[in-house]
Amino acid sequence: MRGVKIGSATLELVEGDITKQDTEAIANAANTSLLGGGGVDGAIHRAGGPQILEECRRIGGCPTGEARITTGGRLPARWVIHTVGPVYRDGRHGEAELLARAYRNSLSLASEHGIRTVAFPSISTGAYGYPLAEAARIALTTARDCLTAHPGIALVRFVLFGQAAYRAYDAALAQLVPDAS
Ligand code: ADP
Repeated sequence: MRGVKIGSATLELVEGDITKQDTEAIANAANTSLLGGGGVDGAIHRAGGPQILEECRRIGGCPTGEARITTGGRLPARWVIHTVGPVYRDGRHGEAELLARAYRNSLSLASEHGIRTVAFPSISTGAYGYPLAEAARIALTTARDCLTAHPGIALVRFVLFGQAAYRAYDAALAQLVPDAS
């Protein structure tokens, strides 16, 4: 685990399972249908139960780079923020901006709902194929900037699934904040 202070807020990295997090909200790396998928999306719907999918159906979808909110069903987190990262093609199709927008819109939505603590998975780095090192840099830079823009948010935690993802985020954070501990 590693954490850094951004003003009075904390930006934190842990290795683990996002469905177990007790932050007020967790983010889901969803697809545009919001109707469930594999990876972290499948894990969140399995752990949270059918209520989340029911709410997603009513919302009716989410364009890439945007975010939508549902309750957390049976999850420890009260809210799930569903966001859609880009499918990585070659880096020349606006992927970086879309990935940054997914984090930015998720944190704006959290702020609008008065949510103070949010956990994120590593969006787009599974089935969507975004190179981990570059995705980590974008995720952490965007989260840092959003913490400054939304002083109501006290904690952004990245929950990395497996050592490779944790190490990539750890290296990116060291670049971003050289004295991180
Ligand atoms: P995407 O389609 O956005 O790439 P995936 O769910 O395929 O989404 O993968 C996103 C990231 O989530 C991957 O790094 C994957 O290892 C990770 N992941 C899968 N299950 C979990 C989980 N239970 N908790 C946290 N991260 C997870």
